[in-house]
Amino acid sequence: MVVSTEPQGCPQASPGLDYDAIIIGAGISGMYQLYRLRELGLRVRVLEAGTGVGGTWYWNRYPGARFDSESYSYQYSFSQELLEEWNWSEHFAGQPETLRYLNYVADKFDLRRDIQFRSRVTAAHYQEKDRAWDVTLEDGSKHRARFLVTAVGPLSAPTMPRIEGVESFAGQRFHTATWPHEPVNFAGKRVAVIGTGATGVQAIAEIAKTVGHLTVFQRTPNWCKPLHNGPIDAASQARIKATYPEMFRRCQETYACFIHTPDPRGTFEVTPQEREAFLERLYATPGFGMWQGNFRDMLTNREANAVISAFVASKIRERVKDPKVADKLIPKDHGFGTRRVPMETRYYEVYNQPNVELVDIKETPIERITRTGIKTSEREYAFDIIVYATGFDAITGSFDRIDIRGAGGIKLKNRWSGGPKTFLGIQVEGFPNMFMLVGPHTALGNIPRSIEYNVEWVARLIGYMRERNLTRADARPEAVADWTDYVKEAGRGLLSNEVDSWMTGINSNVEGKQTRILARYSGSAPAYRARADEVAGGGYRELALA
Ligand SMILES: Cc1cc2nc3c(=O)[nH]c(=O)nc-3n(C[C@H](O)[C@H](O)[C@H](O)COP(=O)(O)OP(=O)(O)OC[C@H]3O[C@@H](n4cnc5c(N)ncnc54)[C@H](O)[C@@H]3O)c2cc1C
Repeated sequence: MVVSTEPQGCPQASPGLDYDAIIIGAGISGMYQLYRLRELGLRVRVLEAGTGVGGTWYWNRYPGARFDSESYSYQYSFSQELLEEWNWSEHFAGQPETLRYLNYVADKFDLRRDIQFRSRVTAAHYQEKDRAWDVTLEDGSKHRARFLVTAVGPLSAPTMPRIEGVESFAGQRFHTATWPHEPVNFAGKRVAVIGTGATGVQAIAEIAKTVGHLTVFQRTPNWCKPLHNGPIDAASQARIKATYPEMFRRCQETYACFIHTPDPRGTFEVTPQEREAFLERLYATPGFGMWQGNFRDMLTNREANAVISAFVASKIRERVKDPKVADKLIPKDHGFGTRRVPMETRYYEVYNQPNVELVDIKETPIERITRTGIKTSEREYAFDIIVYATGFDAITGSFDRIDIRGAGGIKLKNRWSGGPKTFLGIQVEGFPNMFMLVGPHTALGNIPRSIEYNVEWVARLIGYMRERNLTRADARPEAVADWTDYVKEAGRGLLSNEVDSWMTGINSNVEGKQTRILARYSGSAPAYRARADEVAGGGYRELALA
């Protein structure tokens, strides 16, 4: 176990407890929750599996890893000083810069002294007698705290494909989410990438720049859209910074906290020429505009979605020289925007390179990984390096990997069999004093905007409890039922909820995740916040407080 560094003047936890609060995870959520709980005078411990802060941006060091949110719309907004001090060098920063930023935040607010690294939590059990959580680490050490905040990440439990022989490959192999801290050299190498989701698309475009020969194994093509990234020069820096207050206000108003907001027009309320011109403009606009700022009915009206999908398909055909390859890259099982849209930089052009090959594994499935490479139903390929861009057991995966038990020993995994049930995505009935950040059923979108809100909501609740000497907060069953119904209702009519994806709880690489569930809240972020504000403003009647 890592030896803690005790600061001078650290507050004492309540009697019988090691800490007032334990936070699992030192990503954007955990770091900010630590900051806020410390402000309340709590004695807090953050337990983090990695060796540094940053979560997503600590782990995902694969080539090409970068934001799809604008750097400035993604950053923390809580500190004016931090906003003034930090200058983003690109509109969509790469992972190294984001990790530097999060380390800067950790230093600036002296967060590290309460974070214990190399500390993977394996169990968290609630003890009713003491109204406390006993948290166990991989090394067997135990820590007790009144409150447990899970900041374990929506995309932080990597999954490997369920293919025979993964262990037998004698060359180098990497999962994008556990990428080594040293650069990997692809020059002159025969490289395989398995997976063409948001990560695969970023990695493939970068690896193709130096690779000897690249073979991409694709199961499901995604609708990708050019990122149009660029550096931020001094004049733009000044202009962007001057608009921070307005930009953050805008992020509070939009559906998913992005700076983009849907066009109020319906797809068929304009002439075909106007539609074409609008779509051309969106395609040429940096970032998620084509996804988040398209015609208002794109994600609810099948015909509208089909028109927009056809437009993006025509772009793929324009960019990929071989029509057969282009056809393989065009999704047939879902429409544009109904799954997370990967942002790309010259991704489609990669397939025009003579040293790049695309293998459709729905046509010729991978049978096994061998000592020397990959065997499909058609042939055997030899590789020096295999890259698994096979994603995550999303949203509930990082919870499932911890043995979490609430009052009476009930397991969270059992409570959530058939799909998560939560109150505001923050609490689960029967798991008192456990608060989830970016758990299921909370607003996501441009995630740090939702993180800041939820962290502050949790801090406000804990502050409320401490002022009144309350030591137990549990969601009332009727509040959970109401919220679960609301989440269901909010997702009605959305084409994305009719598609298999991590957003609907499907992961063919994880046993038991082949049935769609209500994994996320797909209503608007403003509506989410309005409901959560109402709960706080009304004195938390939806919670049983004692
Ligand atoms: C490649 C990639 C790109 C992304 N790009 C964007 C983007 O452009 N815009 C956007 O809004 N979102 C993006 N996301 C989503 C991203 O995950 C969130 O924006 C945000 O980083 C989540 O922060 P978090 O602190 O909640 O979780 P994370 O950053 O995932 O941090 C969770 C931390 O918890 C730790 N942890 C988990 N389980 C345990 C355990 N049992 N014991 C101890 N520690 C544990 C992990 O090690 C990790 O450090 C991206 C995700 C990925 C993977």
